[in-house]
Amino acid sequence: MPNHNSRVLQGSSERVQIINDDKNFTSDLSTQIERWGLRDAGFNYNIVAVFGSQSTGKSTLLNRLFGTTFDVMDETKRQQTTKGIWMCRGKGMSVMVMDVEGTDGRERGEDQDFERKSALFSLASSEVLIINLWEHQVGLYQGANMGLLKTVFEVNLGLFGKKVQDGPQSRTLLLFVIRDHLGVTPLSNLQNTLTADLMRIWDSLSKPPGLVEAQLSDYFDLMFTTLPHKILTGEKFEEEVARLRERFTIKGREDYVFKDVYHKRIPADGVAVYMENIWEQVQTNKDLDLPTQQELLAQFRCDEISTAALVEFNEQAKSQKRPIEAGKVVEGLGALMKNWRDQALARYDRDASRYHQGVYSRKRLDLHATITSTLSSLFLGQLKNLHKLCLSAFKSALHATLSGNGTDYNFGDVVGKATSECETRFQAGGKEACIEETEWSWEEELELLREEIANVAEVFRKDETKKMVNLIERNFKRQISEPVDVALNKATPDMWDKVLGAFKQLLERAESSYLKKAKSFNCTEEENETALGSLRIRAWLALRAKIDELTADTAILGKLRMHFEERFRYDENGVPQVWKPDDDIEGAFRQAKDETLALVPLFSKISPVDSSLQYTLPPSPVNATEEEFDFASSLVIFSESKYLDLAARFRRDADAYFVEAKRSTVSSIAQ
Ligand code: GDP
Ligand code: MG
Repeated sequence: MPNHNSRVLQGSSERVQIINDDKNFTSDLSTQIERWGLRDAGFNYNIVAVFGSQSTGKSTLLNRLFGTTFDVMDETKRQQTTKGIWMCRGKGMSVMVMDVEGTDGRERGEDQDFERKSALFSLASSEVLIINLWEHQVGLYQGANMGLLKTVFEVNLGLFGKKVQDGPQSRTLLLFVIRDHLGVTPLSNLQNTLTADLMRIWDSLSKPPGLVEAQLSDYFDLMFTTLPHKILTGEKFEEEVARLRERFTIKGREDYVFKDVYHKRIPADGVAVYMENIWEQVQTNKDLDLPTQQELLAQFRCDEISTAALVEFNEQAKSQKRPIEAGKVVEGLGALMKNWRDQALARYDRDASRYHQGVYSRKRLDLHATITSTLSSLFLGQLKNLHKLCLSAFKSALHATLSGNGTDYNFGDVVGKATSECETRFQAGGKEACIEETEWSWEEELELLREEIANVAEVFRKDETKKMVNLIERNFKRQISEPVDVALNKATPDMWDKVLGAFKQLLERAESSYLKKAKSFNCTEEENETALGSLRIRAWLALRAKIDELTADTAILGKLRMHFEERFRYDENGVPQVWKPDDDIEGAFRQAKDETLALVPLFSKISPVDSSLQYTLPPSPVNATEEEFDFASSLVIFSESKYLDLAARFRRDADAYFVEAKRSTVSSIAQ
């Protein structure tokens, strides 16, 4: 759209020589079209060209009609001014006006070549060709203009002869402007003469096969007008020109010249490239195949437009690349990506959709694919990061609950809640990041995440189960200590019954507390069996450890000594014995010693009076570590030799008491 800054306003009156004297195409047209403010006009612009002999007032006419600034011949010098082809923007109009170097009937040859080339060039792009001629040239069938028209018709047949779908439109308006009209011959007569000449020329053309029947009216619309003498009737000339101008400016008029049907459908931003290509083909005398030219133009421009659309897109996509590579989950990435993509496609569509539809669609698919693949790596990165985030949130949730308050939770519930939170979060993130018109999916990643959280939960579960079993074991150890102490200190014949009774009761309590807890851990039958088996063995080992502690050498000797002393040094009332010479010291000594020695076998093996108690503990060594555990041998507390050793050591102690007792009677006699 035209920008109303001074430079462009100034630019709008600039002209450019698109083909110079050496028949080279300018490299400035593209920039110039932009400076004219027409680059973004799409199809909302028109192209008109003028043809005619030299110095017939063509440039003068164009400047009057379009407010252009083409050079006009200086009256006093009378030399050719317009060389090659010039272009200017119509003042206040979206029109590109081409002033084409005139041909002179007197100088043929070289000129004819340029005439042909410029005709091809103009027909391929212009909607309206103004054919400028003097009134006195009308009817001169052999005149210079007729040669020009023959050329125009011929090249037109070559260009637009075969109608191709999707190709440029083939209709062109020929506007005959008859200059220096005296008024003696009415326009209608001039028009008839000219039309008859045109028909004659058309008929005389050798037409390519398949086009023999083609009519002039299949390709051209004809329009005629006259202008009075500019010098002799200056005022009238200006009036008529002003009226003629209305045919170019007032859309509603019936004789409006820029009808849609004449438009060559080259988007304004492609005009420069298109014209340059056409000129190159014309120059190298190649067959000018316009549909191909349009396709080539479309390819070139659609690529350019696509690249431009990608530049901004890449800039946007890059902004999130770093954070994602750094492991960040970008909030609202899906919406961002969709926005970038839609913007890029909209930029492309805006400019490219005017070009050859096949090419436009093909390149759009390419662009879409490029964009999708760039976004796809962001998407995959985001999923990966989301996966990590959800997994670590899952771990933290388990940690927070489990490491806190001991046993006051249901493990299954904790895991179930954390799992569903984790999955919900991932699904929401995955859905957000996945944009339509892609084949992306987050479901497989969710499956992977599910597996991982299941593994993590399993590790936690095993740990927690272990912790729980350890806790139960610790409680058991604490509780078993006292009843064993009490029982072994009394050393009654049923002391093992008491010990095993307490053991059985505490073990049952431990087992039921395990089973209650195991439910919330979703433990399997097999795990329960293993855990219970190991719990039983560990409970038993704890019991044995306690027994070992109480039956260590010094401990057991202490017990024996105490037992003996209670019988030998104190009477039945617990009063210390004072031996008199008549007392049966030997008898008492032997009895106390024998009774005490009888304890040694009682301590040496766990053997309850009620033998059913002995089988409280089923020997079930399931765990590898406890494999060597042999229940039967664990009932034995002293070996035979240890037994003899303890008995011998006790005897020595007892003997010492006997000697001491004896001495006490001797000393009492001595007093
Ligand atoms: P071009 O070579 O066809 O572009 O012709 P120019 O526009 O340069 O004009 C050539 C000469 O013809 C100039 O001296 C103009 O003043 C003069 N001229 C322009 N228009 C007319 C016209 O309508 N009638 C006559 N007789 N001379 C004209
Ligand atoms: Mg001129």
